[in-house]
Amino acid sequence: MFEDLLKRLGVGPVESGACHVRWIEDPGGEEIASLNPADGRPLGRVKLASRAVYDEVVGQAAAAFANWRMTPGPRRGEVVRKIGEELRKHKADLGLLITAETGKIRSEGEGEVQEMIDMADFSVGLSRQLYGLTIASERPRHRMMEQWHPLGPIGVITAFNFPAAVWAWNAMVAAVCGDAIIWKPSPLAPLTAVAVQKIVARVAEQEGFPGVFNLCLGSIEDVGEPMLNDARLPLISATGSCRLGYHVAEVVGRRLGRTILELGGNNAVIVAPSADLDMAVRGIAFAAVGTAGQRCTSARRLIVHESLYETVVGRLAKAYATLPIGNPWDDGVLVGPLIHEPAVEAMQSALRRAVEQGGEVVAGGRRLDRPGCFVEPALVRAKPGMAVVAEETFAPILYAIPYREIGEAIAIQNEVEQGLTSAIFTRDLMEAERFLSPEGSDCGIANVNIGTSGAEIGGAFGGEKATGGGREAGSDSWKAYMRRQTCTINYGTDLPLAQGVRFDV
Ligand code: NAD
Repeated sequence: MFEDLLKRLGVGPVESGACHVRWIEDPGGEEIASLNPADGRPLGRVKLASRAVYDEVVGQAAAAFANWRMTPGPRRGEVVRKIGEELRKHKADLGLLITAETGKIRSEGEGEVQEMIDMADFSVGLSRQLYGLTIASERPRHRMMEQWHPLGPIGVITAFNFPAAVWAWNAMVAAVCGDAIIWKPSPLAPLTAVAVQKIVARVAEQEGFPGVFNLCLGSIEDVGEPMLNDARLPLISATGSCRLGYHVAEVVGRRLGRTILELGGNNAVIVAPSADLDMAVRGIAFAAVGTAGQRCTSARRLIVHESLYETVVGRLAKAYATLPIGNPWDDGVLVGPLIHEPAVEAMQSALRRAVEQGGEVVAGGRRLDRPGCFVEPALVRAKPGMAVVAEETFAPILYAIPYREIGEAIAIQNEVEQGLTSAIFTRDLMEAERFLSPEGSDCGIANVNIGTSGAEIGGAFGGEKATGGGREAGSDSWKAYMRRQTCTINYGTDLPLAQGVRFDV
């Protein structure tokens, strides 16, 4: 099944991991295998880019940028529109490849491609709306204005769990902003990156703009670290763990480069006494076990009013007992495998520590006795202050914590270092508004009566505190991919100075 799929996408058994105006053949390049997490079998192989290849890619991207930045925004939008059209044609195949490489179920694999298409559409509109302000000048016959210029070639580092969408959040917007993009994808999902690059590079070349979209998949030593240290890249957008973010902030900050950091989450759902429980249980289950708990927005903590605690835990435990777990490409399956063995081990270790710290596993948690990285999503009774609850374990573990009053619930929700997404189920207007107020959730995303995962692209996506503070996708996130210039124009014959300063020479 997957051999035919790769053929349809034009992906061969051994592919190059680097492409600028053309694919780069590097006979000596080290090879990595892409493994299907559902059975551990190799799907294909990719050759890593060397340090020399990295330098070549950045050089070409800089050359392409010189031309792209002077191309009118709407023309850049036209190229992105054509990329969106090509992605539409390949939606089913790309979606299945994402399923094969990451283990997410079919509808989520295709949903990820839809997200790329939506980002292309959004960015086409944006290409005619890169607005600056005009500003009232205090000096006669002077005009002030702000304009937004392209920033440069930029580096985009992506995580394994959204191997295509995260690239699109950055690349589609950055492209209409006039930047060239160098993509370093996760080595855990290399074929998705190669397949996307094949489509995108083809369109860019047909449109006369080769070298705007570049791929450079290599080791941390040969590509990752050089990228962070490279003064030719004014912006590094990095998506991954908080640990990665601390490092990227330090290294890029040392050269005063810009960063967009999209890091880990430890997201909570509050269930208040007035909640619609049917809605809450469905919303929590999707957020906690969807994508096998491998979304940055997955619900990891459940903060339930003490009057409902037993009911909610009981209903979730019942739902967990019948979850369809299996091959992610099979109809009806809702939970696929974890990405690899270390993820299974991390989950088992977290559950052991939860029990040592006073928690109780009330549903799931076992590894399935079959090939592949399959686990049962786990539901754990927990208490505030358990150290393991403060960590992001990238697996389906939901810690249920009781609370007495809403202020306490919000305090528990905010006490972790991450600040990505948060939700409350309530029909009490005052409680909902308090949750959304300055003394409420401290996260970048706060939802009422929906779960924590499944954000739409129209809003700015990202989180506070150790989640990194970056914003991507919709709203005015585009500003991070451009440089702002404030211009003052004197159309008079005098030279009045600001603040009334006199300087007659
Ligand atoms: P990871 O941190 O292990 O790796 C992310 C990327 O960083 C990979 O491409 C990796 O090769 C690269 N990398 C690692 N060290 C590097 C270095 N020194 N220099 C340059 N690049 C380096 O993360 P992962 O396991 O792939 O993904 C899961 C994590 O990502 C979770 O913490 C999840 O919450 C987070 N995530 C966040 C968002 C968001 O938007 N906030 C989205 C998806 C995933």
